[in-house]
Amino acid sequence: MRRILLPSITLLIGLTILIQTNSHAGAIVRELPQNSIQVDLLILNGTLVDGSGQKPRKADVGIRGDRIVFVGDGRKANLQAGRTIDATGLIVAPGFIDPHTHTLGDLTDDKRKANEAFLLQGVTTVITGNDGGSVLEVGDLLKKWETQGIGTNGVLLAGFGTIRGKVIGPTDAQPNAAQLAEMKQYVARAMDEGAFGLSTGLFYAPQSYAKTEEVIELAKVAAAKGGVYDTHMRDEGSYSIGLLGAINETIRIGREAKIPVHISHIKALGPEVWGQSKPAIDLMKKARAGGVDIMACQYPYGASGSSLTASLVPRWAEVGGRSELLQRIDDSQINDRLLADMRDNLKRRGGADSLLITDARDGKLIGKRLSEIAKEMNKPPVEAALDIIKNVGGASVASFNMNEKDIDRFMKEKLVLTCSDGSGGHPRKYGTYPRKLRTYVFDRKLISLPFMVRNSSALTAEWFRIPERGLIREGYFADVIVFDPKTVADRSTYQQPELLAVGMNYVIVNGRVAVENGTYKGVLAGRALRKTKSQ
Ligand SMILES: [Zn+2]
Repeated sequence: MRRILLPSITLLIGLTILIQTNSHAGAIVRELPQNSIQVDLLILNGTLVDGSGQKPRKADVGIRGDRIVFVGDGRKANLQAGRTIDATGLIVAPGFIDPHTHTLGDLTDDKRKANEAFLLQGVTTVITGNDGGSVLEVGDLLKKWETQGIGTNGVLLAGFGTIRGKVIGPTDAQPNAAQLAEMKQYVARAMDEGAFGLSTGLFYAPQSYAKTEEVIELAKVAAAKGGVYDTHMRDEGSYSIGLLGAINETIRIGREAKIPVHISHIKALGPEVWGQSKPAIDLMKKARAGGVDIMACQYPYGASGSSLTASLVPRWAEVGGRSELLQRIDDSQINDRLLADMRDNLKRRGGADSLLITDARDGKLIGKRLSEIAKEMNKPPVEAALDIIKNVGGASVASFNMNEKDIDRFMKEKLVLTCSDGSGGHPRKYGTYPRKLRTYVFDRKLISLPFMVRNSSALTAEWFRIPERGLIREGYFADVIVFDPKTVADRSTYQQPELLAVGMNYVIVNGRVAVENGTYKGVLAGRALRKTKSQ
């Protein structure tokens, strides 16, 4: 641990190191006029969990401009601070980095660009453009974020769905040589403009129509530019190739495209695959031993968030997009087959009780289970679902499909980062990180605090190749959080998903205090991060 102090000591060469006899830290800061290290902000007396996974320790943190310039004993060093935060009884940690969010729209919207839901969880950097859904013009969007200002740092991925949709459309066609070349060009350009990698959502139409070989070809382009591959896999349950089949597909993409692969929101979705967390982890470890840099992330909730259509409608019925889906719903020739497949999919999800409508154009549906709606409509559940898809334009659902044992087993793994998958209508957007701290670290003690912090910051930065963030270390960017272990908690629920989390006393982004005493201060200190060649 002493080694970490060395750089600060070397900074002091040529200066006089005054050992203070006065032990009152506040006094040191005011009384030293000369030969001192000037810092803008000094966080004193906190318990530091620095992101490395090491045990908590007492250490003060000094920030100058947008960088951490001091980590150590403030009483022994000769520090002069513009401002001091007393962190007695509080945890000081690196700001969390969320590798899977749906904040592309938030960060781009003038009213939501502060990303407050994330700041109050202690998240200082969000990755977005996941699930294959991003923008074609990565450079333009990063520039827009820069010009208008954003509350957290933002990282973009190129989106396979966006690119395939543009080049091939919503059909199940396979690309010809020219189309494949065009898709590759889009990936290359996105990478050149600052994307950190390529995301896919192979579960969703039209990405589900792509064969593995097509994905490998595009992943190679991202790999050549130092990017990573992030995926919502083709199957997390028992829909098509199965959870384990989908992990094998992901591993194959990693091996053949020579690209680090990240399984987003890993889970065993549905009773038919409960318990498969164990073989899933085994597969990942074996791949790792074989040289594939595989990683996953997870949110600490038993329900996933999706749409009624993606959850229940078979992909063959979605070929051609919504207008063709509507025609098929009305086609008596195929209606039986459609309903039969939907019944199977509903079973895979755990039945009509397991789907809670969280958002829909018809407000009366919100907060109700599909079972309840079916009863009101006096129809079988899948027919009620089709009714909603056809007449209301679909709905967002919380899908209660996970088993606590699988959630726990994944969470304890070093290979599993924390991600929110934050999207509207699900409490995870407002609660993921405080919930993991409150429930899994402090109350249930399933994982330790240093482990949780590391898998929510340093490991995420390292794996996604985001330089100089994720650790409390001299020279790193000053993304720092100060929270109260006694009070930090989520408040968002399935009924009220937009309640802000509590207990994050201070959230510092690039050296600027964005949250103070648990309240967002209106500061837009985030940056649009670009992947550069040297990374
Ligand atoms: Zn997803």
